[in-house]
Amino acid sequence: MDQIAEAAASLFIAAGTSSRDARTVAGLLAEANCAGHDSHGLIRVPQYLAAVEDGRIDPAAEVELLQETPITAVVDGHWGFGQVAMTRAVEVASEKAAAHGLAAVTVRSASHIGRLGSYVERLARRDLAALLLVNAVGIPAYRMAPWGGTEARLATDPLAFGAPRSDGDPVVLDMTTTVVAEGKVRVKSNRGEPVPEGWLIDAEGQPTTDPDVLYGEPRGSILPLGGSAAGHKGYGLNVALELLAGALSGTGCIGGGQPLGNGVLLIALDVERFLPLDEFHRHAEAFFAHVKSSPPAAGFDGILLPGEIEGQVQRQRQEEGIFVEDETWRQVLQWADKLGAEVPLPEERR
Ligand code: NAD
Repeated sequence: MDQIAEAAASLFIAAGTSSRDARTVAGLLAEANCAGHDSHGLIRVPQYLAAVEDGRIDPAAEVELLQETPITAVVDGHWGFGQVAMTRAVEVASEKAAAHGLAAVTVRSASHIGRLGSYVERLARRDLAALLLVNAVGIPAYRMAPWGGTEARLATDPLAFGAPRSDGDPVVLDMTTTVVAEGKVRVKSNRGEPVPEGWLIDAEGQPTTDPDVLYGEPRGSILPLGGSAAGHKGYGLNVALELLAGALSGTGCIGGGQPLGNGVLLIALDVERFLPLDEFHRHAEAFFAHVKSSPPAAGFDGILLPGEIEGQVQRQRQEEGIFVEDETWRQVLQWADKLGAEVPLPEERR
């Protein structure tokens, strides 16, 4: 994890980012790898550097607090790294919720914010329940056809929810409104592997397991959450996120000609303002025990809560290390050459 963070930070610094912001972005990317979401880890570095090169990300942008009340705030990322704007938004939401019980913070004009779970987890560890609603904009974000359509018009808009637990990791639900995140298709493409059935359709609307239909022309789509049987629900949720995160934040909805980025609505609630924390935990733990008492189905070892799988992978990867495919390292090293950056390499890649 440290090597991924070091490599990414060196490249961002070489591309004109301050050391503090480079470490923020790199640390969150490495955290995504560690949680098992390789789609939002080191693989994003070449994409971000290409965006810096052609002006879609300002590596030195200053995040600005545009306006605020005791419980609301509008953060402007000025098309810098989304992770930097989100780190500020989490701090602002945390302070306001601690002081007044709740906070609603929007973030506009942020480039890709990465893995959502990291942000709600930070709030949950401070005993705040959090809801993070996000829309994605920019033409490369067109990944999902609207329900009933054949051409992609929508993105894999995600949402996340975090809640504190009395003991152990917070509950973290972090999911796209599509069957799968685009980055997971990209990982399969980089590894030369097919995707599972039920993820993709080609440009004619036919099911396919070829990840490259997303990256060639005519372009295929990722199915909405609910798949071919109930995709109208994932599509409907996606529309709600476009309005609450896109329109409300001022980033705008997809299709508005923006660069690749995210619009955000972050809501934080101080549990103690509604009931004693112990009582919340008592309700929650009784509910978790109730849910986990269901006998496991074939192929399952037991019932997991949202976020538990990431916690397990994190502990395993902290011990065993993180596998990064050759193609991703090749792209990272190509950028290191181009930027004249020293990238610390793991032993086996020297
Ligand atoms: P996923 O399908 O891997 O997981 C979704 C949720 O299901 C998680 O909360 C996970 O803990 C839970 N889960 C997984 N297996 C489970 C099990 N066996 N039992 C119970 N719960 C289980 O995630 P995804 O939808 O493919 O999204 C992947 C990542 O992509 C997320 O981190 C998301 O934030 C990120 N993303 C970011 C953007 C962006 O624009 N910034 C866009 C899309 C996705």
